[in-house]
Amino acid sequence: MKYLGLLLLLLVGPIWSQTDDKEQLKEIYNASLTQGKAYNWLNYLSNQIGGRLTGSVQAEQAVAFTKQKLDSLGLDRVWLQPIMVPKWVRGVPEFAYIESKPGITNNVSICALGGSIATPSGGIKANVIEVNGIEELEKLGRSKIEGKIVFYNKPMDPRHINTFEAYSSCVNQRYSGAKEASKYGAVGIIVRSMNLRLDDYPHAGGMSYGEIPLNNRIPAAAISTNGAELLSTTLKLNPEIKFYFKQNCRQLQDVKSYNVIGEIKGSVYPNEVILVGGHLDSWDLGDGAHDDGAGCVQSMEVLRLLKITGYIPKRTIRVVLFMNEENGLKGAKTYAEVAFNKKEKHVFALESDAGGFTPRGFSFDCRETDFAKILRWKPLFEPYLIHMFEQGGSGADIGPLKNDQIVLAGLRPDSQRYFDHHHTEIDTFEHVNRRELELGAATMTSLVYLFDKYGTTSTNMEGDK
Ligand SMILES: [Zn+2]
Repeated sequence: MKYLGLLLLLLVGPIWSQTDDKEQLKEIYNASLTQGKAYNWLNYLSNQIGGRLTGSVQAEQAVAFTKQKLDSLGLDRVWLQPIMVPKWVRGVPEFAYIESKPGITNNVSICALGGSIATPSGGIKANVIEVNGIEELEKLGRSKIEGKIVFYNKPMDPRHINTFEAYSSCVNQRYSGAKEASKYGAVGIIVRSMNLRLDDYPHAGGMSYGEIPLNNRIPAAAISTNGAELLSTTLKLNPEIKFYFKQNCRQLQDVKSYNVIGEIKGSVYPNEVILVGGHLDSWDLGDGAHDDGAGCVQSMEVLRLLKITGYIPKRTIRVVLFMNEENGLKGAKTYAEVAFNKKEKHVFALESDAGGFTPRGFSFDCRETDFAKILRWKPLFEPYLIHMFEQGGSGADIGPLKNDQIVLAGLRPDSQRYFDHHHTEIDTFEHVNRRELELGAATMTSLVYLFDKYGTTSTNMEGDK
């Protein structure tokens, strides 16, 4: 009898646990959709504070605001992790025009790329050479480039269904375009905005001069997609036209800032950390609601949803709001360094940094054995139309935590509208849908719950072997 009982327990055990999980997920989604706080937090972050460029007053206000909110959640510990961060400022708005004949000009929308130097105070006016990506510079050579503005006009490829793939395939012209063009004697660069549609909003974004010495650096700006089309057409009619632009952005001394961190201590394995996070800084043109205010409030909400649904985590659940993702990744690097030095064991890290749109699923960066285990949870998400569980990247801020044991993951919302807003003046609160944001928070919480309950192959875990 005794053995029969044990056998029965073994047989039905997993079914019970599946039912529990179904119920727990339902509770999490219900709580998010009926008692969610993420949207109100995002409203404050976006409309009362606004764009949170690293080193700005707004970034510091966002640190204070999110810390205060975490303090109010009754977590076991909330703290600020100090970091030195770069401070780049845009200065007065940029100005640019196409001069098709002396005195005949058309203004176009541009914005300086983050990290760029200013133009001389009178601006730069020069002939333009258009290229379809960095690869074309070498073919043209110094004779065709020297003294000119290089115009990178490689568009995002609309054939990619995942728009992040289209972004990845041409963002190098924004990031490294100035560095490469300066080697051929260019005097500046203009980059087509990373946008799949035609509009008048230039897209900011990070760039790097690499090892190029200070006095050989050239200014870099993004032009709106409509502006890029006009410039390209005008050049085809007359390759001798000139382009003028003026910007007075500056790199200042590094300043002190913080990652904002809060945690619920694990009840069974307090030394195993599950991290959920986003980045608190943003570009300055909009209010950074999608990138990445959404990811921050969703991550804060994960801890709150676990608490209000009465779940007691076995592992330590930690929310980290990283500073300086957009132009330096200093927050992420410091966090990983401190975790490494303290020998903290991170078993799972999940980042939300792809917009506050309808969640579709997750992308995982982990070992095959862990991925196989994760896939078994997929049916639990189907009632919420979460279908995407795939191997791939995770998030820029959690990347430095990578080792051969941790599972890294990124929330994957629908990406079709993301690049309409990304890094522009229309990355604003009114473009975030409350339900979509809340579904994302619930989806993240559900995955964190499952990881906490069942562990991974490298955790202490008993259950779900
Ligand atoms: Zn981001």
